[in-house]
Amino acid sequence: MPTIYDTDAIDELRSRLGVQPHRMKLFRNALFKNAGSWDEALVQLPEHARDEFSNRITVECLELIERHDSDVDVASKLIFQTHDQHLVESVVLRPKTGRTSICISSQVGCACYCSFCATGMMGFTRNLTVSEILDQVTQANRMLKPEKRSIRNVVFMGMGEPLLNLKNVFEAVTFLKVAPFFNLSGTRITVSTVGIPQAMAQFAETFPDVNLALSLHSARQEVREKLMPQAKKYPLEQLRETLVDASRNGKVMIEYLMLSGVNDREEDLRALEDYLRGIPVHINIIPFNEYAGSNLHGTPELERKQFASRLKQAGFDTTLRYSLGSDIAAACGQLVQHRRKEIVP
Ligand code: SAH
Repeated sequence: MPTIYDTDAIDELRSRLGVQPHRMKLFRNALFKNAGSWDEALVQLPEHARDEFSNRITVECLELIERHDSDVDVASKLIFQTHDQHLVESVVLRPKTGRTSICISSQVGCACYCSFCATGMMGFTRNLTVSEILDQVTQANRMLKPEKRSIRNVVFMGMGEPLLNLKNVFEAVTFLKVAPFFNLSGTRITVSTVGIPQAMAQFAETFPDVNLALSLHSARQEVREKLMPQAKKYPLEQLRETLVDASRNGKVMIEYLMLSGVNDREEDLRALEDYLRGIPVHINIIPFNEYAGSNLHGTPELERKQFASRLKQAGFDTTLRYSLGSDIAAACGQLVQHRRKEIVP
């Protein structure tokens, strides 16, 4: 069944039923601007059109099956089930200073198999559709409404590799940007990638105002290959050229997950500085969220701080990321993994 994001199907239905465009605007505003329910949206339509819309268009394509609110901070983890019984997750973050954000998934599982990522252990099942990607944001907005909040920032850092679901992610980003849908400025959207040069170039050309984040994690080819199998296909040298081009639109975010004894030594720091020198980037140092099944360990906080200050001294714009929602396992893929273990003992 078409969803509320299938604009062609909705337009066809609207004109067949003779619904005035301004009523459609009210209908969409009720759903998106006011984060209203389906019933609240339907009453904006003329009476004769309501049943047809209800029978022919679906509002939710994901079923919210679990919500976990963090005790220690301001994160909520949402677990959704797709119509074909797969699980995907999103994390809503309410930082004390800053905008309410959501980290969304773009695929069921992931085909990249990064050694530090729980989602990688699940393997790849399928791409999420445009509606499934967007429904995570719509349902989060509905959840936030009683708190008088709404999603002001969207990051594609949940399950999956967004640039391997290029067509749907591009379409979803377009919806996120436009009124009467989500109406977010490009600077409030970030797409994070393992680093697929051609897709990154296409992304930078199509969405010059949307933030791009590269999960670099090592500037040493042999180390990066061990962490991220995709690095064999797309060597650092090639990636650097893409980075130089993409950063013409503005700073690219470099994600650097710090793993003890793996990518946190002096030679790793030097390699990183050499690799990024001269490129306008923002480096984000990330703590490792441990999960069952991984034998990797995060670099202690003090060393992470030292690594970051050395980068700052070298002139790089650098920040430390603090993990929100650690008590509800809000790192990439963690919770779905927990749940799976409960289902399959
Ligand atoms: N595939 C994309 C987006 C999903 S992962 C990408 O790789 O960028 C989003 C971010 O979460 C990446 O920077 C990834 O390195 C990080 N991440 C994955 N597993 C993690 C873990 N166990 N702890 C902390 N960050 C993790």
